Amino acid sequence: MLALRKTRAGRGVDLVTTGYAEPLPAEGEVEVAIRAAGICGSDLHAVAWDPSYGFMEPFLPLTIGHEFAGRVVAVGAGVTALVPGDRVVCWPTLPCGTCDGCRAGRPSACEARRIVGLHRDGGFAERVRVPERVLHRIPETLEDDLAALSEPLAIAVNAVDVSGTQSGDRVVVLGPGPIGAAIAFVAQERGAEVLLVGLDDAERLAIATRMGIAATCDLSGTTLDAAVRARFGTRCDRVIEATGAAASVAQGLEVLRPEGVFVAAGIHARPFEIDLSRLVREKKQLRGAHDTTEAAFAEAIALLGRRGEALSHLITHRLPLSRGVEAFDLARSGGAMKVLLHPDDLEGQTT
Ligand SMILES: [Zn+2]
Ligand SMILES: [Zn+2]
Repeated sequence: MLALRKTRAGRGVDLVTTGYAEPLPAEGEVEVAIRAAGICGSDLHAVAWDPSYGFMEPFLPLTIGHEFAGRVVAVGAGVTALVPGDRVVCWPTLPCGTCDGCRAGRPSACEARRIVGLHRDGGFAERVRVPERVLHRIPETLEDDLAALSEPLAIAVNAVDVSGTQSGDRVVVLGPGPIGAAIAFVAQERGAEVLLVGLDDAERLAIATRMGIAATCDLSGTTLDAAVRARFGTRCDRVIEATGAAASVAQGLEVLRPEGVFVAAGIHARPFEIDLSRLVREKKQLRGAHDTTEAAFAEAIALLGRRGEALSHLITHRLPLSRGVEAFDLARSGGAMKVLLHPDDLEGQTT
């Protein structure tokens, strides 16, 4: 079968033909035929071989991709919750089960977690074998492409949870990529007044508008402070960052009211200096949000069922797996939001 694999430490990804030596999945594992798989920012980092992805080296070669939807085709011994034919999506996090966090019943605090598609084979392939526990059944009514948005949407739901956003809050979201746009969408669904900002991001902001985000602003012609005052007339209650650019954290803290909450959700390549006295005197809360939770994942699936039409605007490109390398170039460009890969035998391929 075809698979997009990271074959060596260094830049790049390769389309290869691979297969399984064993006819059936291992004990506790499930084989899934992939129907749609989204390219995530972390996949781009892994392919670019950013320094913070060096952790993958001992696990190479491996098939990347973790935002997938598919159908169960085989189950290994001991699998109890899934049978062939079930439609599933993946929450790719595998807690270790033995660290302090795991033993205390807080798997999200695991210090040795493994991720499908970063530590072991993932979903940019025709099929994948994964532990039963990472798969979640989805309703028959939820179509494959939308279902493939479950994981990134769950990341967004969690970031909004971490921010503590309440109905009526003024929320600024920094960065109109798929995660930022989804965060703005979720915050707005919860009754917040939202402003989504970008920098030289006209195309992505236009997509966010089509999703129904009430207010967007491109900072290429203005400042964040001016944009926030124009939208709210005052500073905001929450800022959620999904840019990965350290400078945006400093700007975001500036526009936050005293006792406001700042959530950093981007992956940052650089360290960041902060005016701590000001943070302390204004009693601002600086929080990190990463990955997601069981409850947020369930909410994401429900939201896709309820608001799928609006959320479908997140998907801008669909390519067959055989054009996966090209799909990565597209995903890296500012014009694309979510790029999905489909198995080559799927009819109705469009670009
Ligand atoms: Zn992802
Ligand atoms: Zn653990």
